[in-house]
Amino acid sequence: MTAPSFSFRVTHTDGHARRGVMTTAHGAIETPAFMPVGTQGAVKAITHRDLEGLGAEIILGNTYHLYLRPGDALIARQGGLHRFIGWPRPILTDSGGYQIFSLSSRRTITDEGAHFRSHLDGSAHLLTPEKAADIQAHLGSDIAMVLDECVAYPCAMEESADAMRRTLDWARRSRDRLLELRSSAVDGVTVTNQGQAQFGIVQGGIHLPLREASAAGTVALGFDGYAIGGLSVGEPTDVMYDIVARTTACLPAQQPRYLMGTGTPADLVESVARGVDLFDCVLPTRNARNGQLFTAGGRINIKNARYGEDQRPLDRDCACYTCRTFSRAYLRHLFLAGEIAAATLNTLHNLNFYLDTMRGIRDAIAFGRFESFRLAFHQRWSRQAVDS
Ligand SMILES: [Zn+2]
Repeated sequence: MTAPSFSFRVTHTDGHARRGVMTTAHGAIETPAFMPVGTQGAVKAITHRDLEGLGAEIILGNTYHLYLRPGDALIARQGGLHRFIGWPRPILTDSGGYQIFSLSSRRTITDEGAHFRSHLDGSAHLLTPEKAADIQAHLGSDIAMVLDECVAYPCAMEESADAMRRTLDWARRSRDRLLELRSSAVDGVTVTNQGQAQFGIVQGGIHLPLREASAAGTVALGFDGYAIGGLSVGEPTDVMYDIVARTTACLPAQQPRYLMGTGTPADLVESVARGVDLFDCVLPTRNARNGQLFTAGGRINIKNARYGEDQRPLDRDCACYTCRTFSRAYLRHLFLAGEIAAATLNTLHNLNFYLDTMRGIRDAIAFGRFESFRLAFHQRWSRQAVDS
């Protein structure tokens, strides 16, 4: 059963690349799309007004962080996450699984769920698949993710297989809970978005038979869309691309596919070529705060002394506010002086670069020239080495 407000339509295909429109309870998203990461209900260093100006159509919120602070019940009392944070457009929330996986020494995974200690105050918590669905019902995101178990890289086949089977069992429990939340009242849970969709997550590490079994089992449960999880955790890039290609081949053509937590601009282009529709990654925002900037010609480390008196814009091909207004010399000065504006201006640019890349990808697919876009992108991107 699909959420009443959720739909996805592929409008163009070019090879395995697809262009489409995903419609949610809070509006439509042109795909392939990149979601800026708004961990705690804010994309670090910029305002929602900036995001709208950049053309972002959807952002991601982190269940783990919002559950611990300010708490999902508080957000539900405020009318849900959209109202609480003042962002009227679509929101996707993760399940918290990946953050808990990253806590390593502070968590234990059992069939029941993930036992973990808060990074804020050390308090003990248990996140079950049902609890992750309930928290996201409180948040009222447009797309909720199931709780899954991620494994590290490298990981033995047996351990990967156990995590994959557990993820599948949790996916069934997550789906049952969401259907229960949609159809009847669940004690103590306020559903703040009746149109919330839910995506399943394919796991299985780098083992193809596990990926195929995970995809088949997850699709059989009947989600609104499907994510590929557990990649970008240290495996070689060609292995990741191969897993992406083999996994999308196992997913339904008429439903959206989301590659979680990836990646570099080249990863986006290559994953679109393998049939992915949706991405999120902290790279553009985190790198911006560290002075690492993406440009059409490659990456720039603005700290570098060579930019000390460089009057050129960061990227002459970029139309963002930062590039239209400021020189590399000024951006370097702001960064070295520790001015807050450095984080803001750098984030504006890096996000514009990512969103522009997605706009270029969508146009190329619509005009049937995605392969030439892909080739030109890689040629330009590799022309300039990282200057850090
Ligand atoms: Zn720019």
